[in-house]
Parts: sequence; structure tokens; C-alpha cells
Amino acid sequence: MSLTEKALASAEAHSAHNYHPLPVVVATADGAWMTDVEGRRYLDLLAGYSALNFGHGNRRLLDAARAQLERVTLTSRAFHHDRFADFCAQLAELCGMEAVLPMNTGAEAVETAVKTARKWGYRVKGVPDGMAEIIVAAGNFHGRTTTVVSFSTDPEARADYGPYTPGFRIVPYGDLTALAGAMTGNTVAVLLEPIQGEAGVLVPPPGYLAGVRRLTRERNVLFVADEIQSGLGRTGRTFALEHEGVVPDVYLLGKALGGGVVPVSAVVSSAEVLGVFRPGEHGSTFGGNPLACAVALEVIAMLRTGEYQERAAELGDHLHRELGLLAGGDAVTAVRGRGLWAGIDVAPRIGTGREISERLMERGVLVKDTHGSTIRIAPPLVITEEDLDWGLDQLGAVLAG
Ligand SMILES: *Cc1c(COP(=O)(O)O)cnc(C)c1O
Repeated sequence: MSLTEKALASAEAHSAHNYHPLPVVVATADGAWMTDVEGRRYLDLLAGYSALNFGHGNRRLLDAARAQLERVTLTSRAFHHDRFADFCAQLAELCGMEAVLPMNTGAEAVETAVKTARKWGYRVKGVPDGMAEIIVAAGNFHGRTTTVVSFSTDPEARADYGPYTPGFRIVPYGDLTALAGAMTGNTVAVLLEPIQGEAGVLVPPPGYLAGVRRLTRERNVLFVADEIQSGLGRTGRTFALEHEGVVPDVYLLGKALGGGVVPVSAVVSSAEVLGVFRPGEHGSTFGGNPLACAVALEVIAMLRTGEYQERAAELGDHLHRELGLLAGGDAVTAVRGRGLWAGIDVAPRIGTGREISERLMERGVLVKDTHGSTIRIAPPLVITEEDLDWGLDQLGAVLAG
């Protein structure tokens, strides 16, 4: 039995099967490359769903983590620690906001936003107790908790997990008329991804996000932007909403905020909105811990220069030009995306998304399929143009059959 076969058999026997990973067992990684237990190298075109925007083993992030590991790693929020205030101040500044509520995972940030919006609705907007409604979009992905899957439209994510949390209305993504029609006096928030990642990197029609901003402002409703995957450089800007000149009331951040080193998420908003919480009303043992703050501070410093955003924009233009050429043939039925982020719909005769991912793996390229026939491309933002081109050549070869 090879090292790979042993690891696969053991995982098969001893882990829950809530994932169906490609049969590659990674041992080490550096930049945009991963090496498996047999010493084979793979180009990572998934980047941990954008958690690894700054690449594997990023020196600055590892140094920040290492230095903090030697100082203090956890205090709990029962006490202050000396990285917390800086982290909150600098993240708020990066977002052009005032206040930060740190959590760990993306789903926790979404849960926190649901609580924030409801509490804001009752305390500030004056919605009758228990009546708050939050509007979300069909095809959304906001995480895996019981409340979050309650407003998923994906049967795989939702089935058999009821009873479901009430208080959510689902409207078609990209449809302003439907959104306006779903708003009532009890609507407290509209929760959206500026680009729907898991749905296949769906970019809404031009003007949609600006329209959501206008409607939410007119109706005194919070616009909560889930930028957990789209944010922090991926699309060529710090936030995907910037492409439409839109500033939401609340940003949800995660994934790349922890640099692929530790889980760090945050709700970032105004002092008024986050001011609804009093001591004891919400919290997290690990949220805002010193190690998380130290790594995230380095992430924020790297984003402040704009160099990663610029790189994502330039390489992203290149990526979309190249994918446009592939889309010219009959193997690809659609290409979408923005910056270093693309969803490619592959014609069924070429194979399922899974089959294409497996063929790419055999050629040394790692991607993840979504919704049957879509391949997602989201390399670390530090990938070289040469490596990206090589990865696209492999994709071209697989699509050629
Ligand atoms: C990944 C993701 C989440 C959930 O984040 P976890 O850290 O996996 O809980 C929420 N929203 C979006 C848009 C995501 O991509």
C-alpha cells in the first residue's frame, strides 16, 4: 500500500464522510504549490476557498504567528490583551468603519450579524418583538450552522436539519424588484454575497448592488455584505462591493483574515449598529484571541499597501482573457468572475466537474468543482503569471479531451 492509499483508507474508516476530497494527501506547501506524501507537486488553484489569499507558508504571516506564539496565545475576553485594540482599530480603518466584533469562523460572523440585525431592529428601528425579518438571496452560501442552513436553498446543505429557524425571506439573486417586494416594515437586514462563490462565482447584474444599497437606505434596513470569500483582495479590490462604489452597513469577514494560519472572522460596522451589544449579550472564547489578532494585523498591513489587490486585478484580467479564449470552443458553456476568481461551466460531454477535477489532479493542478459542472479557479494572489499560465494550459488540455 502506498502512503497515499494508507492515508485514504484510514480517513475512510475513521472520519465522518461529510466531504469527498480528491485523492491527494498533502504533506507540505509553499506559495501556490502543495506537495503530497509521495513528493508529487500540485498547483493550488483553490487557495482554501480564498483563506490562502497570501499563499501557503507566507513568511510575514508565519513570523507574526511565531512571535505571538512565544508571547501569549489566549486570554479569553475576560481580560484585555495588548494586540486587541490595534486589531480592532486597524480593521475598522481598513473597512472605513468604526467598530469590530471578532469571532472565529465565517458562520459565526454570519450568526453574529443575524443577532446584531435583529437586536438593532428591536432597539433602534422599533420592530415589534419577535417579528424581525432578514432577506437573503436564493443560491446563497453563508455557512453550516442550523440557523444559517435554515435559509439555504441548497437541498444538500439543508435537508434533514429542521426544524428551521424562522425569520428569513428568500428572493432571487440579482432581482431588485423581488427584493423591494419582499421588504416590509419588519425587515431589519438584507444579507448578501456581492458575488456568490459557492453558487459558481455568480456576479450579479450591473447596478444590482448599488440598487440594494439605495433600497436598504430608503427603507431603513441594514445592508449586510458577506465578503467572507469575496473580500480582502480576491476580486482586485479590498471588497467586491467597491466595484460598484457601494459601502454596506455591515461587512462580514473571515477566511483570508486569518491568512490560512488561524481561523479569524469579524463583523465590522458602525458604532451605532455594534453598539446594540452590552456585556454578556454575545461572545466567543477564542474570538479576538492574541494569536488571531497578531496574524490578522499582519494581513491588514499587507492589504493596506494595495499591492495584493493590484496583483489580483492585473493577473485577474489576464486570467479572464485566457478563459475567454477557452470559452470560444464548445467545451466551455460559460465563464464568470472578477479578479483572480472564476467559475467555468463545462459542457457535460467533457465530463462532470468532479471528473475534470480528477483529470486536473493527475496533471498536477488542484481545483474544486461545484454544482455538478462548474470548476472554480481562485489561486493564491501570490501565484506567478507563469504558474497560472501553466495551470491554464493543463485546463486547456483536459477540456480538449
Ligand atoms: C466560507 C464562507 C462562509 C462560512 O465560513 P466558515 O469559516 O466555513 O464558517 C460564509 N460565507 C461565505 C460567503 C463563505 O464563502
